Amino acid sequence: MSAKNDLPGTVQSRTPSNAGPSLARDLLRDVFGFTQFRPLQEAIVQHVCGGGEAFVLMPTGGGKSICYQLPSLLRPGTAIVVSPLISLMKDQVDALVANGVAAAMYNSSLAPGQARSALASFHAGELDLLYVAPETLMTKSFLERLDAVANRHGLALFAVDEAHCVSQWGHDFRPEYVRLGELRRAFPRVPFVACTATADPQTRDDVRAKLGLSAAPCFVGGFDRPNIRLSVVEKHNPLRQLTSFLAAHQDETGIVYCLSRERAEKIAGQLSAAGFSAAAYHAGLPAEDRHRIHDAFTTDRIRVVVATVAFGMGIDKGDVRFVIHYDLPKTIESYYQEIGRAGRDGRPSEALLLFARADAAVARALIRRSENNSQREHARVGIDLRKLNAMIGFADGTTCRRRALLGYFGEDVDTDCGNCDVCLDPPETYDATIDAQMVLSCVHRLGQRFGAAYVADVLVGAKSDQIRTRGHSAVSTYGIGAQKSREHWINLARQLVHRGYLRQDIARYSVLQLTERARPLLRGEERITLARPRTRVSLSRGERSSRSVGRAATALPTELNGPNAALLSNLRALRRRCAEEQGVPAYIVFNDATLLEMATLRPTTHTAFLTITGVGATKMRRYGDAFLAVIRDATAPHR
Ligand code: ADP
Ligand code: ZN
Repeated sequence: MSAKNDLPGTVQSRTPSNAGPSLARDLLRDVFGFTQFRPLQEAIVQHVCGGGEAFVLMPTGGGKSICYQLPSLLRPGTAIVVSPLISLMKDQVDALVANGVAAAMYNSSLAPGQARSALASFHAGELDLLYVAPETLMTKSFLERLDAVANRHGLALFAVDEAHCVSQWGHDFRPEYVRLGELRRAFPRVPFVACTATADPQTRDDVRAKLGLSAAPCFVGGFDRPNIRLSVVEKHNPLRQLTSFLAAHQDETGIVYCLSRERAEKIAGQLSAAGFSAAAYHAGLPAEDRHRIHDAFTTDRIRVVVATVAFGMGIDKGDVRFVIHYDLPKTIESYYQEIGRAGRDGRPSEALLLFARADAAVARALIRRSENNSQREHARVGIDLRKLNAMIGFADGTTCRRRALLGYFGEDVDTDCGNCDVCLDPPETYDATIDAQMVLSCVHRLGQRFGAAYVADVLVGAKSDQIRTRGHSAVSTYGIGAQKSREHWINLARQLVHRGYLRQDIARYSVLQLTERARPLLRGEERITLARPRTRVSLSRGERSSRSVGRAATALPTELNGPNAALLSNLRALRRRCAEEQGVPAYIVFNDATLLEMATLRPTTHTAFLTITGVGATKMRRYGDAFLAVIRDATAPHR
C-alpha cells in the first residue's frame, strides 16, 4: 500500500517545496493521530524539510521517530532509515504501515520474495521510507541502487537511528556503522538526520565527527519526565525495604531491577514467598518463559517483575507505577532508560534507587577486573569507570535529583523540581563530631580489621556469637552507640569513608582503616558536620498523591472507576482480536495510553474518535467502527 494513493493529505503534501507548519501539523494529526508536537519535534521537522542536517539527542521514548518520519512524508522521494536491530526496524515498519504509510524494510531477515518486492517498490519510487541494515546499505550493489533511485525519484533524506553505534566511545559500537559517514559525501544534497539517546559529550562529539555532522545544529531535549518522583535511599535491609514499599503500593504494578540473574531469581522467590505477585525475568530464561512473563505483566496478571537489564525492549505498558533499582545501575543512561518505563501514561509514578556505597565499590572493582592489557580495553575501562562515577555522584548527591539528571543530559534547568527526595526532604546536617569520634575510635579498638557492619554492631552492643567469641563485648566502645540504630552507624562510617577519614579496603573484605586525616578529629582538635542519616523507605502515599506533579499528570484521572475499567478491558479484548487477525503485536493496533483515553473520554462519533491521541486517518478507517461500537455499547443507557 502506498501512502500516495491511500492518504489524500499525503499526496498533496509531497511537493518539493518547504513544508508549511500547518501542513506538518495536519500530517501529524491525520497520519499519526497526535494533536501536538512534542518540544523540539516541530523545529526539527521544519529544519529537515527545508533540506537541513540535524543531530537529535532525545531520550528513548522521547519521540525521535517523528523527527525523520514526518519529513519523509513531506519531502519528495524515499527516505532511507538506518537502524541497527532488525526487531526495531520491524516494529517501526509495522507501526508505519498500520498508519497507512508506504514503508518497507530491507535486510537479511527477509524471504527472497519479500526482499524482491521491497526493492521493486523502492525502484518504482513507491516508498516513503525504506529501513535498511547498515551492513546492507553500505555494499557496493546497494549504493548503486541508491544512486539509480536518487537520479530517478530523488531521496527524501537519510536518517541514522541509534547513531551512537558509530562511536567506539559509546556503549554499543558497531563497526558497520563507521562507513555511514561516506553517505554524506556521496549524496551531499540529501538531508541527513542522526538520532541517539546517548548523552555523554565524548560520544556525542565523536558521532558528529564520524558522520560529518560537526557543523550541524544539535537538538537536545525532552529528557524531563516530571510525573516520575525520583528518590534515592540508603540501602540497609533491601528486602525489607522492598516489601514495605510494595505493601504501601498495593494494586500497583512495577519493575525491580537488579544486576544478576541469580539475584533476580532469588528476590522474586522471596517476594512470592512473602505473598506478592512476582516473577523473575532475565536473558537466561527460555524464550517461552520470557514471553509468558512479559505477557502476564502486560495484562496485569503479574504485579512485580524482578528483572535484569534484559527486561525492557517492547514494554509498552503505560501504567507501570514504579521502577525500583535494587542494585546500582552502571550508567546514568541505563538508570534513566529504566526509570523511563514508569509512568508512560503521565500519571504520578515512583523511581526508587536503593543505594549502598559498598555496591559502588564492588561495581568499580568488577570493571577494573575486566581490564586486560590491550589499549582498546584500557580505554573501555576508563570510560566505564567514568560513567559509573557519574552514577555514584548522582546517587550520593544532595542537590535536586532532577536537576542533576537533566544536567547530565545537557538540559539546564534553573529551578528545583519539587518532586524528588532531595526537594521534598532536604538532607539535614548536624555537628557529628562526637558520633564520628565514636566510629573512629571503635575502628581503632577493633584493630582496624573489620567492616562497617561489624563496627556498627559493636557500637550498638549487639549480642552476636561472633562478638562474644572474639571478646569484643569487652572493648570500651561496645554499646556506647546503643541509643542510635545500626543503620545510623553504618551510614556515618560511609560518610567518613567518603570524606577520607576512613579507608575501605575492597580487596580485603571492605575492612575499615584509619587515615592520617582521622587523627585531629579523634584528638578533638577538629569538628565535623555530616548529613543526618536517613533510612526511610519512601514517602507515604497520601503525600504523593496530594502533590502536583506537572501538567501531564492531570490529563487523565488517577483511577478508572468501575464502568470505565470494564470498558477498558473490553477495548483491550477487541485490540487483542484485531492484533491476532493481522498478526501484529497489540500495541501496533493501539497502545495502552490510547485505550485509556478512549475509556475515559468515551468518544461516540467518528469526529470525536479522531481526537483521541494515537488515532489517525488510517486507524480510524480500519478500527474506528469496531471500537466505537464497544464504546457506544458501554455508554448506552441500560434497560
Ligand atoms: P524514540 O524513537 O525517541 O524512542 P518514539 O519515536 O518511538 O521514541 O516515540 C515514543 C512514543 O511517543 C511512541 O509511542 C510515539 O507514538 C509517541 N509520540 C511521539 N511523538 C508524539 C506526539 N507528538 N504526541 C503524542 N505521542 C507521541
Ligand atoms: Zn528535585
